[in-house]
Amino acid sequence: MTLPVTIHQNYSLIHQNTLGLPSIARYYAEVNTVEELQEALTFAKEKGLVILPLGGGSNVVLGDVLDALVIHINLKGLSVVHRDERQVTVTAMAGENWHEFVLWSIDQEAYGLENLSLIPGCVGAAPIQNIGAYGVEIKDYFVSLDAINISTGDVEQFDNFDCCFGYRDSVFKGEKKDRYIIISVTFALDAVLSPRLGYGQLTDSLSEKHGDSVLTALQISQAVCDIRQQKLPDPKTIGNAGSFFKNPEVDQQTMERLKKEYPDIVAYPVGEKWKLAAGWLIDRAGLRGVQQGSVGTYQKQALVLVNHGGATGSDVIAFSQYVLEKVKNQFGVELEREPRVYR
Ligand code: FAD
Ligand code: NAP
Repeated sequence: MTLPVTIHQNYSLIHQNTLGLPSIARYYAEVNTVEELQEALTFAKEKGLVILPLGGGSNVVLGDVLDALVIHINLKGLSVVHRDERQVTVTAMAGENWHEFVLWSIDQEAYGLENLSLIPGCVGAAPIQNIGAYGVEIKDYFVSLDAINISTGDVEQFDNFDCCFGYRDSVFKGEKKDRYIIISVTFALDAVLSPRLGYGQLTDSLSEKHGDSVLTALQISQAVCDIRQQKLPDPKTIGNAGSFFKNPEVDQQTMERLKKEYPDIVAYPVGEKWKLAAGWLIDRAGLRGVQQGSVGTYQKQALVLVNHGGATGSDVIAFSQYVLEKVKNQFGVELEREPRVYR
């Protein structure tokens, strides 16, 4: 028998967002079962409260006070649902830690997620922005997810097509924003490892360590972890939400203009467009490692904004606006914030 879910009032979220921002939730609940989640939703309906699902808090900028019911999704469970010689289908509950899920999948001899090692946060948030790194996105292995419709309480299933995945994007950031709570996600992983090593730094690191030998998934995962640990700030030590801006895409004409002025600009072709490395733009705008008050850009990767201690959500937004404007003025390119802002 499950006990009624506990609803806290005026609950501090400072330790539940990786930027370490002070934020008070008017109401807060941690749910460990779908029944508890349903109870929390009923409570919110009765009180007319806005719902804010929270996983690891690694892709949010939180305001000082959130007039909402914040629900920490802590549903656990990992299972292999089907295996054949080509694919291994696995389901993970939304509250599972993403990196632990990746390691578990490797342990099950189910491959494909190695490049996504050490991304903070929970499985349930992964589809929201179609998490990606080193040339792999979850959409490459995603089968379906189950989500509770907040207004009806019904469980609905979304397949890969329904999710409208894009570059750090999905239907849950667009048309279906704030309407669903994801409870589980199913992936079809490879039964045979086929490494995806198109990203220079990863290829170099692996060939340096392992030469020409046949790679294992664990070696790839470890190499990704090593690179990330060298380059990215650990939120436990210094508050951050990873890349603060998406890499902007520009047309051919803009690319030619920029290339003339900045021959060393870092850009990659995406269909008929070009993806610019936002970190390079910020760096070249003279903003790598700068600090204003308690917020700044990280010295080793300018795309990451950091809380040096004592920053609020407004401080982070104000600093990010300053970065946006500097980049816009210098390059004529508009950056878009990646983390979700709640005020
Ligand atoms: P949260 O921050 O808790 O939530 C993010 C959004 O998803 C919020 O709008 C929230 O309401 C919603 N949400 C969360 N759970 C659910 C749910 N169950 N149902 C419905 N909505 C939900 N991202 C990448 O794509 N690639 C990277 O390589 C990467 N590297 C990072 C490195 C660092 C150091 C950090 C701090 C962040 C990085 N990120 C990266 C961003 C972040 O880790 C991912 O976006 C991650 O998926 C967020 O998970 P979370 O559980 O922390 O989500
Ligand atoms: P990086 O290697 O310094 O590269 C800078 C940018 O160039 C990356 O953002 C990447 O775009 C792009 N890039 C590099 N090699 C590429 C290639 N061969 N083909 C296409 N695009 C290429 O980046 P980094 O900061 O160290 O991050 C490494 C990976 O982790 C990236 O994929 C990045 O997205 C991911 N990451 C994401 C977050 C986040 O919060 N979203 C935080 C940290 C790291 P893409 O970003 O499109 O891959």
